[in-house]
Amino acid sequence: MRKPSAILTGLILVGHAFAVSGVWAQDQPDPELLKAKELFEGAGIPGDKWIEGETMVPHVAPAAHFKATMLYYPGTEELQPDEVRVTFMGSTYYPNQSQSGMSIFVELGNGDNFVFDLGIGSLRNYNSFSIPFNTINHVFFSHLHMDHMSDLPYFMMFRPIQGGWTPLNIYGPSGSEPQYGIAQMVEHMMKMTAWHQDSFNAWPIGEGYDPVVHEFDFMDEGGVAYEQNGVKITHWPTSHTKDGATSYRLDWNGRSLCYTGDNRPNSLTIKYCSDVDMLISEVQTATVSMSAQALGMPVALAAYTIDTSHTPAYGLGYICNEAQPKVCVATHYSYDDIFNNETVAEVRHHYKGAFAFGAPDLVTFNIHGDGKVWWREGVAADSSQTPRPALKSPIIKFPAPRHQVYDVINDTIEANEIPPEKWYPEGHMPELIREWPLTKDIEIPNPFATPPPE
Ligand SMILES: [Zn+2]
Ligand SMILES: [Zn+2]
Repeated sequence: MRKPSAILTGLILVGHAFAVSGVWAQDQPDPELLKAKELFEGAGIPGDKWIEGETMVPHVAPAAHFKATMLYYPGTEELQPDEVRVTFMGSTYYPNQSQSGMSIFVELGNGDNFVFDLGIGSLRNYNSFSIPFNTINHVFFSHLHMDHMSDLPYFMMFRPIQGGWTPLNIYGPSGSEPQYGIAQMVEHMMKMTAWHQDSFNAWPIGEGYDPVVHEFDFMDEGGVAYEQNGVKITHWPTSHTKDGATSYRLDWNGRSLCYTGDNRPNSLTIKYCSDVDMLISEVQTATVSMSAQALGMPVALAAYTIDTSHTPAYGLGYICNEAQPKVCVATHYSYDDIFNNETVAEVRHHYKGAFAFGAPDLVTFNIHGDGKVWWREGVAADSSQTPRPALKSPIIKFPAPRHQVYDVINDTIEANEIPPEKWYPEGHMPELIREWPLTKDIEIPNPFATPPPE
């Protein structure tokens, strides 16, 4: 075999940019170089000549600004002004080592972000991606099953400790009766966490324990749950175990995505999610008798659960074929090699477009450029510390605690504390801080402030 010439090797190294300059512009071009030009400019590129693959349509493509194309390293990529990033912080109903309860983190190029559901265990993924709790101000719930909301109490209680001193906005449906709506749930959650709140009230909390609940009428089809800063989030009712389950669509800057929550395949999904960039739906593999055996469940019970309340993969394929999103995304799914291929095959029965799993946790999607989509595995370390709160102003105003720690510990219990002199080594005992020095808000210079532009 002939070795490539030195010039050709050079071309391979410098790539296409070099190809259009000097070398091609010679008066009498070298036929070999011309052939190479043809090769580099068109070979292997399907264009209109053939169809490449089955599902990776041309709008499935990475962006030039990605730091890594096949992996997403959180904190390394500035979103472009018109870009959307969607990370699955939770992706199932039954948490395991690689999957938490449902939670979808949506970040927009204008700096806004939105959380959809906050299921069990999902917060560890926000932490491992270094998303400070104080940057999350808007949380939407599709319905009030615990696989979608059981991390809310923890988030609510610990958000102020990460600088979340403003009220958290919580959005969700009403129910068929007041006791089934989100307002009632939050009110009772705040009662449930009374001990926690009063103990943490010895720290700066501000308005962190004053949630603002935006309960909307679950039957208000196409109602607007949120509209600010060019972002619009609409909702509609869906059928899932009980009245009150909701689907959402987010629109911003010509980008769009649907998250339908849990439901039976719903005609309104087709109505409201046609041509969106991402259609995110739950999915169940339609092999109930086999899964029931594997899960040790009576087949009738498994079938009853799916047939009344969930979306088999055939149903998702039907919906995505009708709605034709840029990418059809299946989540709320036990991601397992044994069933993955079967699930895809079932979706494919109706739908031929781009398809991806919104699972396992940390898979990250970007909607970018002129309407391209790409998805990657997100990278997180096994251990991580609390992320640094995002406080950018030059002065931080710490809200005053509502009381001192020892105001809510009685003298008998306090007296049982072993004096620190007994257990600190000689010369190691610091000056202890046993009381917050002020009963007023306190302003201190922010050591991590964003420096002013020069
Ligand atoms: Zn669920
Ligand atoms: Zn559910």
